[in-house]
Amino acid sequence: MKKIQMVDLKGQYQQIKSQVDQSIQEVIDQTAFINGPQVKAFQSAFESYLGVKHVIPCANGTDALQIAMMGLKLSPGDEVITVDFTFAATVEVIALLKLTPVLVDVEEDSFNMNIESLKKAITPKTKAIVPVHLFGQCANMEAILAVAKEHDLYVIEDNAQAIGADYIFSDGKKQKAGTIGNVGTTSFFPSKNLGCYGDGGAIMTNDDDLAHTLRGIVNHGMYERYYHDVVGVNSRLDSIQAVVLSAKLPYLDRYCNARRAAAEFYNAAFAGCDQITTPTTSEFTTHVFHQYTLKLNGVDRNALHQHLLSKDIPCAIYYPVPLHSQKAYRDNRYKEDDFVVTNKLVQNVISLPMHTELEKDQLEYITQTVLNFITKL
Ligand SMILES: *Cc1c(COP(=O)(O)O)cnc(C)c1O
Repeated sequence: MKKIQMVDLKGQYQQIKSQVDQSIQEVIDQTAFINGPQVKAFQSAFESYLGVKHVIPCANGTDALQIAMMGLKLSPGDEVITVDFTFAATVEVIALLKLTPVLVDVEEDSFNMNIESLKKAITPKTKAIVPVHLFGQCANMEAILAVAKEHDLYVIEDNAQAIGADYIFSDGKKQKAGTIGNVGTTSFFPSKNLGCYGDGGAIMTNDDDLAHTLRGIVNHGMYERYYHDVVGVNSRLDSIQAVVLSAKLPYLDRYCNARRAAAEFYNAAFAGCDQITTPTTSEFTTHVFHQYTLKLNGVDRNALHQHLLSKDIPCAIYYPVPLHSQKAYRDNRYKEDDFVVTNKLVQNVISLPMHTELEKDQLEYITQTVLNFITKL
C-alpha cells in the first residue's frame, strides 16, 4: 500500500507533468512573470467553465474576499453576516476592513449557514451576507438570496471549498457555486480542489460595473496607468500559477468525481456504524468533497485522531474552535445559546484523507482502522 496522504499533490502532478513542465518553462523563456498572456488565457477558460461573465484573478482567496468587499463599497460599521464554523479568513477580512462581523450558527447536517439564525441576525446596519460553501457543497442559496432581496443586502459567496459544485434551483436550473450571489470568491491554495503550485485566488461576478471596479482595485486602484481613482491593493495571480491552473482545469470534473467515489466508499463502509454520522448532501447542490468530515457520537474524538495518526493515517479537525470563541474575534455581543450547533461540531467532527488519488487498499485500511477503534470501545 502506498503511504496515505491527507492531500496527494504529487500523484496528481505525475498525470499532467509534461504539460505543466513545458508551460512553466515557456513562462520562464518569455519572462512575462506577471500579467502575462497565460493569466488572460486561464481567466477566459475559467469564465467558460463556470458560465460566469467575469473572473478577476488575484493573489489568494483571502485577498479575493477582501477585494470583493472593497468593490461593494461597504463602510466601517456596516454589519456583515457570516458563519461561526469556517476558516478564519472569512471573518478576518471583515474585521480588517473595519466592518462589523456578525457570526451565525450553521446547520448540523450540511455544516452550512442556518437560515433561521441568519434571519435573526439582521439589523438595520446589515449590508451583506457571506455564505461559505463549506467542505464542498453549497449553502442554501435560494433562501439566502430571498433574505438578501427582502432586506436589500449583498451576497458574497466564499467558494474556496466548493469549486465545480452545482447549485440546483427549485425550477431545476443549475448554476456553478460562486457565480450565484452578487460576487463570489475562490482560492487556488495547493490543497484546494483546484489548486496551483503556490498562492492564487479569483473573484467571480456577472455584474459588469462591479467587475470593472474590482479590476482596478486588484491593481492599485488604477483604471488608467498611474491614475489612482480608488484605494486599491496589489493582488495578482502570476503567470506560472496561471499555467498550472490551465493544465488542471480540464480535469476538474474528473477530480470532483474521484473525490465523490472516495466519499461513496467511506459512506458505504461506515453505513452500519451507529457512532458515526457520514456527510449528507443537501437536495439543492452537488458535493465536491473538499473535505470528508464525519460526526462522531459517543466516541473519544481526540483519541481516535491520535490513534489514526499513530497508524499513519493523516486526518484533521476542521475546525477545533468556533470563530466566536477565538481570541481575535470574541465579542460580548455573542451568546453561547446562539451557537449550539457549532459548539457541538467542534467537539465531534473529524476529517479523513480526501483527494483524487486515493486507492482501494488505502480506503479499506482507513475505514477498517476507524471501525476497529470504535467497535473495540
Ligand atoms: C482556504 C480558504 C480561504 C482562504 O484562501 P487562501 O487562498 O488561503 O487565502 C477562505 N475561505 C475558506 C472557507 C477557505 O477554506
